[in-house]
Amino acid sequence: MKNVAIFGATGSIGASSLDVLARHADRFQVFALTANSRVEALADLCAKHHPKIALIADSTKKDALAAALASRNLSDIEVWAGEADLAKLAALPEVDIDILAIVGAAGLTPTFAAAQAGKRLLLANKESVVCGGHLLMQTIADSGAELLPVDSEHNAIFQSLAGASKADRQSLRLILTASGGPFRHRLDLSQVTVEEAVAHPNWSMGQKISVDSATLMNKGLEVIEARWLFDVTPDRIDVVVHPQSLIHSMVQYADSSVIAQLGSADMRTPIAYSLAWPERIDGGAKRVDFPAIGQVTFEEPDFNRFPQLGYAYEALRAGGGASIVLNAANEIAVNAFLNRRLKFLDIARACRVMLDTMVQSAPMTLEAILELDRAARIKTQEVITQW
Ligand code: NDP
Repeated sequence: MKNVAIFGATGSIGASSLDVLARHADRFQVFALTANSRVEALADLCAKHHPKIALIADSTKKDALAAALASRNLSDIEVWAGEADLAKLAALPEVDIDILAIVGAAGLTPTFAAAQAGKRLLLANKESVVCGGHLLMQTIADSGAELLPVDSEHNAIFQSLAGASKADRQSLRLILTASGGPFRHRLDLSQVTVEEAVAHPNWSMGQKISVDSATLMNKGLEVIEARWLFDVTPDRIDVVVHPQSLIHSMVQYADSSVIAQLGSADMRTPIAYSLAWPERIDGGAKRVDFPAIGQVTFEEPDFNRFPQLGYAYEALRAGGGASIVLNAANEIAVNAFLNRRLKFLDIARACRVMLDTMVQSAPMTLEAILELDRAARIKTQEVITQW
């Protein structure tokens, strides 16, 4: 029996993870659940899954969580709170598997704590790889932790790399597929609304990643993620638009053979794969009905209408802290867009301004990464407040 802690349990990946875990209660135990501030949602999950620990990241809500649990006769569940407790939980000896599904750079602290403690990491939080990929991979190599990428593209690549030799890895190309998002055919993006931006054609996801998919920033973050997870330079990472989201990504080898992973657009597949690896278990996803799909198509991504994809390559090539600055600018701008304070096109504008203006040191420690992230957020906020 493996004890599992879910960071970001109240989110979309959290829900998919809990669904898979419930299907395999003989193998996995829900040991701990965390949320940021949604006390009632977390308490409801606790009533259903009975973890040993419930953690609320916003420590001002600790008493409210204790009360919500008491009102459900769940006072035996330990209540933890705050960022330091997130790190402590990720490294707790009783925890075997950490599912890292917090959204944004807030996921960095527990991700690094899990990596340092040598855990199995099911990593959905792409922003921690984008901001600290080099250091994270080094930390994992040093501690002997196991990193299983949950992001469907990287999980597909991980699967497609099975059996690849060291020589293969030095010559291969990664081909990330992108659905193209909701605005693949829309020429004028100036009047895009929040509702339109979060309505992804194929995947049901949290709000931030849905907006990132609409701007193609999500694919850009995935390019950066792939660079670190698989130690492949950006010139060997391609993006192809594949609107049916059947092929989740591909690896092209030296002989031009392409190995791909296919499946329905359901995050329970990569989660189930990562939980049980190297075994395979049922995650509940529908089997692919090929005749019903009919045909699959491919297109070039449009770097002009969706400039943030290009910014990600640019940040990778610039090195230093450019990816951290880009990620922070994007998070602040997306949040402002979701709160209807910025227009859709201002998200890319904020990223451009920040890439051009912020001094980009090359942080070597987690503290320095977090510091640059904080500084970039403050600066972005200053910039967009003037618009
Ligand atoms: P959601 O917005 O649905 O959920 C986010 C979760 O993180 C919630 O539990 C939220 O708590 C918690 N959270 C938010 N801010 C903080 C914070 N500052 N400190 C601690 N916890 C916080 O996100 P998703 O599930 O969509 O995405 C999670 C991560 O997985 C992202 O990095 C995303 O890019 C990645 N991902 C998601 C996919 C998907 O299909 N959804 C696919 C591939 C990757 P609360 O509810 O209290 O706000």
